[in-house]
Amino acid sequence: MTDTPAWAVTLFTLYPDMFPGPLGQSLSGDALARGLWSLETRNIRDHGLGRHRAVDDTPAGGGPGMVIRADVLAASLDAGLSADDTRPRLLMSPRGKPLTQERVRSLSEGPGVVLICGRFEGVDERVIEARGLEEVSIGDYILSGGEIASIVLLDACVRLLPGVMGKLESGSEESFENGLLEYPHYTRPREWEGRTIPDVLLSGDHAKIARWRREQAEAITQTRRPDLLKR
Ligand code: SAH
Repeated sequence: MTDTPAWAVTLFTLYPDMFPGPLGQSLSGDALARGLWSLETRNIRDHGLGRHRAVDDTPAGGGPGMVIRADVLAASLDAGLSADDTRPRLLMSPRGKPLTQERVRSLSEGPGVVLICGRFEGVDERVIEARGLEEVSIGDYILSGGEIASIVLLDACVRLLPGVMGKLESGSEESFENGLLEYPHYTRPREWEGRTIPDVLLSGDHAKIARWRREQAEAITQTRRPDLLKR
């Protein structure tokens, strides 16, 4: 349907049935159906060991939980990826660099991504090193697995792919895109529960409206996220 190859996702997980999940709906689901991006899920357990297809083992040095084995994950990656694959290999991990809109945009401008979803306590450090995995976090809290984190990352990237969002300018004014949180929005009715829409927005003076929005964005960023202004 398009001349350019689809933005390609290969995703390694123990729970392939979680996909496409919410990504099969709405904007990302339509884009998937239209071939603007593609999603291949690979079950890490297909390379599990023994009769039970074991993928994890107890942590060296003791402690709670289980760790995904380096040999099992490496076998899964090696079977699923070709040597000349240039896509970034991202391991979802609370230890990773926090995901930002800037990174999302740069990922969406590339060929696609390889995502690896951790479970249990995480994965054996050696496979992270040996297969050049980059750890990415979606925030300072702990999820039970990397699947939902992957869905977050993919949702954020896919909406930026060419042809996915209706209006071309939609996206450029959003929170974070210019280092500011977004200005407040209003729509009809003009008066609701005694609250009115700021007069300036009904003035038809586009320069004045742009100035007002800019001031609002700065004020909101100043109170809520002063760290963004410092950057
Ligand atoms: N023991 C680990 C947490 C494991 S949580 C630690 O303390 O760092 C299990 C899996 O969920 C992780 O391997 C990772 O893939 C995923 N995960 C949990 N929180 C995440 C986050 N904030 N961002 C991205 N992935 C996360």
